[in-house]
Amino acid sequence: MGAAVGDQRARRRAAVAAATALLAAWWCCCAAAQVVKPTPRQAYGAAYGHMACQASVLIEPNSTEQLAAALKSHLAAAAAAGKSVKVRATHKFFHSTTAFACPSNTTNIFTPEAGSRPAFGAGPDLSVGVLLGGMDRVLSTDPAIHTMRVQAGMTVRQLLEAATAAGMSVPLGTVPAFADLMLGGVLLTGAHGSNYKGKSNLGDILKEITWVDATGTTRTSARDSPEGRALAGGLGLLGIVSELTLQLAPPSNTRFETVWQSGDEDIASDILELVARSPRALVVWRPDMHKYTAVLLSEVPASEPTTGATQTIELPKLVASGFGTMVRTWEEMARPPYVLEEAMCIASKEVSISHGWASNLRGRPLKNGVGPTNEMQSVSCGDQCAWEAEIANLAMWDTHFTTELWKLPDWIADVKKLMAEDFTGRCLPPGYFWLRFGDGNGDLLSPASGLNGTVNLQLSFMTSKASAPQWGIKHGHILETLEQLTLCKYKGRPHWGKNHERTYTHPNCSVPELYPRFGEFLAMRSKLDPARVFEPPLFAQMLARAPPRYGPRCALSGECFCREDKHCGPGRACVPSAAFPEYRACRRVGATG
Ligand SMILES: Cc1cc2nc3c(=O)[nH]c(=O)nc-3n(C[C@H](O)[C@H](O)[C@H](O)COP(=O)(O)OP(=O)(O)OC[C@H]3O[C@@H](n4cnc5c(N)ncnc54)[C@H](O)[C@@H]3O)c2cc1C
Repeated sequence: MGAAVGDQRARRRAAVAAATALLAAWWCCCAAAQVVKPTPRQAYGAAYGHMACQASVLIEPNSTEQLAAALKSHLAAAAAAGKSVKVRATHKFFHSTTAFACPSNTTNIFTPEAGSRPAFGAGPDLSVGVLLGGMDRVLSTDPAIHTMRVQAGMTVRQLLEAATAAGMSVPLGTVPAFADLMLGGVLLTGAHGSNYKGKSNLGDILKEITWVDATGTTRTSARDSPEGRALAGGLGLLGIVSELTLQLAPPSNTRFETVWQSGDEDIASDILELVARSPRALVVWRPDMHKYTAVLLSEVPASEPTTGATQTIELPKLVASGFGTMVRTWEEMARPPYVLEEAMCIASKEVSISHGWASNLRGRPLKNGVGPTNEMQSVSCGDQCAWEAEIANLAMWDTHFTTELWKLPDWIADVKKLMAEDFTGRCLPPGYFWLRFGDGNGDLLSPASGLNGTVNLQLSFMTSKASAPQWGIKHGHILETLEQLTLCKYKGRPHWGKNHERTYTHPNCSVPELYPRFGEFLAMRSKLDPARVFEPPLFAQMLARAPPRYGPRCALSGECFCREDKHCGPGRACVPSAAFPEYRACRRVGATG
């Protein structure tokens, strides 16, 4: 047994060495000439670099007063000239994967020849992009009751640092695991951390919200007022949120324990048992590897000593570039050689079930430990994120839904069935299925609206921006099928900050119909923003139930679910899933997997 494992390890090491040599040779002879440059970043683009918004005017305020004054003057000028206006707020490199952050046309790596992709509808005469990066200050703190008033352009990382400086903790489980997100975006997309039936999103610690409406007037709403319920999770459709008052907590530490690389035979019952015991669980699952790793977080008193753990997801640019080359080569080849497949499997495992929640100072994953709560729940990578190295050309393909936990066992059984019948490759791309937990709420448009005990089903996999426009993400048929299955069969509500345009414009599975209070929201909006100044074109398309653009390669860009081969691009066919023939997806012809 020991010798067999040793042999296996030696074979794997040889495979990695061979793949590295192969890639190095390829890099020297061909890569420099062939690298496709990503679309140059514009002033107002997606963090992954796959798209950019076009706006006729950019506003970059530092305060609510500046924001309101600028908005008022643009709205008044447009009204005087009889022009239509659209306004969307975000920050310079936003994390939304669709065009909800955009007021009008976009540019996209999938249609570079088009230059500009027209937005749905007539298009506004004046499109205004509001960049909130300059609104990142703490406005006041009240240490006696642990509250903090902040500007909405502050990032999660800045909030965590400010809380530490003020001697407070951000309640564990309430913020996303990625700290470069902006508080406004997090609140308005209903973004979450993990805490089953507990406080699991920013809205759960919100006390008051200040925003600028469609007349340029500044308003302040209590969390539980009708406006507060429409704003949180409401995608910025009523106005621009400028300030938040948050209920923080006394300082604490957080203990993490890891269930390391367990077999997934009983993953559904394991998870139900884990969240009952430890609600702030986060589960990374690789169904292709038949394993999962779970991290269990729990708050402990600040007096409990820390163990020197740190969190990091930074990837040095050189490593990212090598990795990007490997992903691109693998994605381009219909039948990659064994060594490359093997190297990709190892890489995929490293970034998923072998990636510890925290590590020691030498970078080795720690399975258990204790650290300050403000340092153990969300991690930033700044300009060292994998997708930041331009030559690496990496991006993530994110699919993310919320549904109730009781549906999880059936969903997992369906994922396993799909993998058994439709997946013939060795490994899915680097990335993971990520399961996190929460609770329902009374917000009108939050993905958790009206639910009871939730699970967030996230599928995040790496792709190369150099090869994706031609080939799409490797093994994309699995993701395309699961996206439809989760939306249509499980009535999963798509995360407003993730997914693809097609998720919101599915011809048969309407997103608004998944929300019990959608009508109530629209009624409020028609009072507060009758001209739909804050409605992004993609939202208008979703409401109109207008079909997606069906055209060449539309499924590769996430604009459509394929109906015909041409939607998949050359060398790929639109075929029904073997496990779920009611869903069709693009498959590479003659490929392994
Ligand atoms: C690497 C990465 C990790 C992530 N991790 C998580 C996670 O752990 N949990 C999770 O739930 N999600 C996660 N997300 C998704 C994330 O929550 C969304 O992308 C979300 O859109 C927030 O991103 P952002 O802060 O850049 O906001 P943006 O993308 O800028 O904004 C989100 C939406 O809100 C609107 N908006 C933003 N601010 C305002 C404002 N002040 N007023 C009015 N409208 C506004 C924008 O126009 C846009 O439509 C992650 C995304 C990435 C790329």
